[in-house]
Amino acid sequence: MKVTSVEIWDTQNELLPLWHPVIIRVHTDEGITGLGEVGLAYGTGHSGGAGYVKNLAEDFLIGADPMKTEKMWETMFRDTFWAQGGGPVVYGGMSAIDIALWDIKGKALGQPIYQLLGGKTNESLRTYASQIQFGWDDEFRPLSKPEEYAEAARKAVAEGYDCVKIDPIMIDEEGDQAHNLTGILRNKTIRMFYERIKAVREAVGEDVDIILELHSHPSVTSAIQMGRVWEEFHCMYYEEAVHYLNVDLQDKVAKNVRIPMAAGERLYTRWGYRQYFEKQVLDVIQPDLCLVGGISEGKKICDFANTYDITVQVHVCGSPISTAAALQMEAVIPNFQIHEHHTISLKQFNREFCAQDYQPKNGRYDIPDLPGLGLELNDAVVSKSPCVVVK
Ligand code: MG
Repeated sequence: MKVTSVEIWDTQNELLPLWHPVIIRVHTDEGITGLGEVGLAYGTGHSGGAGYVKNLAEDFLIGADPMKTEKMWETMFRDTFWAQGGGPVVYGGMSAIDIALWDIKGKALGQPIYQLLGGKTNESLRTYASQIQFGWDDEFRPLSKPEEYAEAARKAVAEGYDCVKIDPIMIDEEGDQAHNLTGILRNKTIRMFYERIKAVREAVGEDVDIILELHSHPSVTSAIQMGRVWEEFHCMYYEEAVHYLNVDLQDKVAKNVRIPMAAGERLYTRWGYRQYFEKQVLDVIQPDLCLVGGISEGKKICDFANTYDITVQVHVCGSPISTAAALQMEAVIPNFQIHEHHTISLKQFNREFCAQDYQPKNGRYDIPDLPGLGLELNDAVVSKSPCVVVK
């Protein structure tokens, strides 16, 4: 079997103009196709990710054997010059191709990907409602008042979730998302964030777990200030307290806040995770399979984490392709912690990218059993966005 062409969509969305999943479909001479995604749907950089897939396809993918996923990964790592330094554009492009090749491999062998990775260790996956500061329904709405946070959490719990994730700091009193959270925060500011989590804890009771998400907005001092006031709510973990460029800052937060630490959505490859493992600053890692180097690299990172007793919650904030890839991997790994169901995954414009719309039931996800990722693209939807074809 040989790869014959690659379609790359840098998708556009009128309802949420900042939302750009980069979706690819790899074609073969046997008629089997595979789907992949670059994990740059949000933030700045999606066009770069789409462009990097185009360059990889031109230089290495066309004519290659799609079953040789390990060889292709090593080629993209060693022979592109830039991958031996990396970053989200480079590894996002590699991830999309790696996932698409695993999809092809699964379809060619008639098996879901989880069977090829070791089979199911987990029959279904405990799932949490993620980013409820934007509400928990089909609308995208930044919340400000503590009662609104409580209401969104109640809604998720009513659907059967026993864990919710909230970023209580990204939205200020006026509902604005751009505010400085570095340095020493004012007591007034900390009180507002404290009241939001207090309202959620009171709304959901003691048996629902709460994940605190900070999106790397604080600096080390403010992350410790806030962490200490939230300790009384016994939260499940403290996510992205500070940015990643100095592991000693994460270490300082870990030593000063008595909440388990989580991070990983802005780390790439085994080499990126290595120092975080060796210093043991994280309790839970959150590799994004559409950024870390795909399924091939993601599996290695999860196994590496296991040698340090670190558990895994795959980071999911993309199209249904990123969800499907996460489900296939999380079904297999023994150090699985919990699955992330992002509020963006509830939105109609996101759900219609593929013919299948996998959603959790009662706070748990079943693993799709169709070959490969178990997804087919909805051509009528993706064809509304510009497409680049490499042959
Ligand atoms: Mg996060």
